[in-house]
Amino acid sequence: MRVLVTAGPTREPLDPVRFLSNRSSGRMGFAVARALRDRGHEVVLVCGPTALEPPSGVECVRIGTATEMLAACREHWPRCQALFAVAAVADWRPARVGARKLKRGAGGACTLELVPNPDILATLAREKGARLAVGFALESGDGREEARRKLREKNLDFLALNGPEAQEAAVSRLWLLDARGGERELGPAPKEELARGLLEAVLPAGDEACPQKKV
Ligand code: C5P
Repeated sequence: MRVLVTAGPTREPLDPVRFLSNRSSGRMGFAVARALRDRGHEVVLVCGPTALEPPSGVECVRIGTATEMLAACREHWPRCQALFAVAAVADWRPARVGARKLKRGAGGACTLELVPNPDILATLAREKGARLAVGFALESGDGREEARRKLREKNLDFLALNGPEAQEAAVSRLWLLDARGGERELGPAPKEELARGLLEAVLPAGDEACPQKKV
């Protein structure tokens, strides 16, 4: 099948020099894309700025802002049968983007006005029909109750919950919640292995009709 994956952070510019972003490395999303490819699926990877090389054999669409990520996803989603939203999308963006570098002026405080970004996953999953939608969430502390709320409100089939220690890490663990109330833990394991475990848990058995040779 054809699968849409979002990965990495988004960058929300403040002026031509500065931006708001987060610590996402894109590693988990890239691992999911690679694992899908290895199971024989066609992958469209929409990703924010990351130092990582996209997996070979995957269609990679590079974007900067959340607005650009939404536009790219909207373009590809109608031809995809599943969505894995692994990106750490910035929740807000500056209300105004300076055409020139903002000046420090007299050195006083600076107040930024932020406006909310669109929720890409919720927007796409609203119109998913029988297609598969898998989200990720990063919560500090025991975020399972919050994760259940997101699973329901975003109309997801699965939500993979992890903690702040997952950021920029090679090894991580996931708490996988499903829409029927099931829960299971994956890992701790390298993100590549976690991605494979995640696919085994969320894809129907036998989806590996034509696995590609691992690169
Ligand atoms: O609401 P929260 O940011 O915790 O949701 C996490 C999930 O929603 C992730 O799968 C993330 O990729 C997705 N998301 C999104 N667009 C946003 C915020 C989150 O697609 N603006």
